[in-house]
Amino acid sequence: MTSYRSDLFIDGSWVPGSAGDRFDVINPANGSVLSTFAIATEADCMAAVDAAAAAGEAWAATAPRVRSELLRAAYDVLTEEVETFAEIMVLENGKSWSDAMGEANYAKEFFRWFAEEAVRIPGDYRLSPAGDKRIVVDSQPIGVSLLITPWNFPAAMATRKLAPALAAGCTTILKPARETPLTAAYMVDVLDRVGVPAGVVNLVTPVPTGPLVAKMIARPEVRKLSFTGSTEVGRDLLHACADSVVSASMELGGNAPVIVLPGADIAQAVEGALLAKMRNGGSACTAANRFYVHDSVHDEFVAGMAQALSAYSVGPGIDRGNDLGALVSVGERDKVAALVETAVGEGAKVVVGGRSSDEGAFYDATLLTDVAHGSAINRNEIFGPVTAVVRYTDVDEAVRMANDTIYGLMAYVFGEEREATSVARRLEAGMVAVNRGVVSDPAAPFGGVKQSGLGREGGFEGIREFLEEKYIALTA
Ligand code: ADP
Repeated sequence: MTSYRSDLFIDGSWVPGSAGDRFDVINPANGSVLSTFAIATEADCMAAVDAAAAAGEAWAATAPRVRSELLRAAYDVLTEEVETFAEIMVLENGKSWSDAMGEANYAKEFFRWFAEEAVRIPGDYRLSPAGDKRIVVDSQPIGVSLLITPWNFPAAMATRKLAPALAAGCTTILKPARETPLTAAYMVDVLDRVGVPAGVVNLVTPVPTGPLVAKMIARPEVRKLSFTGSTEVGRDLLHACADSVVSASMELGGNAPVIVLPGADIAQAVEGALLAKMRNGGSACTAANRFYVHDSVHDEFVAGMAQALSAYSVGPGIDRGNDLGALVSVGERDKVAALVETAVGEGAKVVVGGRSSDEGAFYDATLLTDVAHGSAINRNEIFGPVTAVVRYTDVDEAVRMANDTIYGLMAYVFGEEREATSVARRLEAGMVAVNRGVVSDPAAPFGGVKQSGLGREGGFEGIREFLEEKYIALTA
């Protein structure tokens, strides 16, 4: 295969890591070692913080237009190289070709969107009520930002953080997931190629992660943590942030309900449900996890889903015709298989699929019915291609069940538009899709309520996470 960047990037240079140790990056479609990646030591992580801190003042002082044009140039390169970009994700993450192209296109849009936001950083001017002073409110970059990303969307989760941070004038340290460092290194390389100055973007991959991330957070220069990952790790990181009062933006786990109302157009509901469930093979924090389907439309919905899911072709994403790729690892595949097994033990019926592959980390497109609200598969984020259907008879009860979770990231409602919108308002979620399966858009505020997160990414809101207001009092 083509060789991809597989080292650390510190202060504008690719470096192998001060101890010279490396870890394997695995192709989950066949278990082969794709590459080895440099392990960052404590000295490397501290050097990355030093570099970001040293570059901070000059980067904050660049003209917004300069930052904007660098981001736009990165968007242009990613557009030209979109197939390379997608291929790296297919190889290290396992996703299907169409999911990888979808992600590549979504990811690069954050560079374009925040190129446009960089030149619209807000500020304010007020006269004090007593008339004794002029109140000038500046927005200034929050400072060195540590960006930690997961493996499921290795490109988009990074651009959704890098783009607003750079647009705001912050310098950064990117810490990608161990499973998918090649995509992160490729993107950092693109930013370097378009001329982002040394120290503004740094890339480290410490192993094990926790202790060295904690040491970076403890450095007084680090002022921001933007994390996407599990709620469990997010809680630990919030504790670490408390010790040095670091501002934290958190995109954590979800357990998205789908409510199919009695008045739903079932063909539309099936189409939306397939997108909500099967996009990225179900490995998405926004993925539909719990399907509450009204008794009056239950059998029609299940028949539609069964027909569609039976037709899914499963296989390596590098063969571009496959609908469903591999999970990121055999371990993740086995977690999905265990959840299905437990569900069956709790009374669920397997209508379609329900099998793991013999080779590679594949799991069938699967449909379960007779799932109980509160059962293990209903409470846990499945993160795989399993549709688990709960039958209900009363809409208020469906809303209660949908809200009966510590999570509140995403919810989906299918039904007659007025009723669906009124149900949408009652759902405890940061985002609700009405009669559609996908909501993600760089122009929209992405984020959760309850234990699904703090703060928003994308939209006008995303850049504010990396800005702080400064009030300057002038004489009247
Ligand atoms: P996922 O379920 O997506 O693997 P994780 O929360 O385990 O979610 O991982 C998300 C990101 O957090 C990854 O980059 C991972 O390496 C990192 N991570 C895992 N454990 C820790 C930790 N204790 N401290 C900081 N980062 C961590």
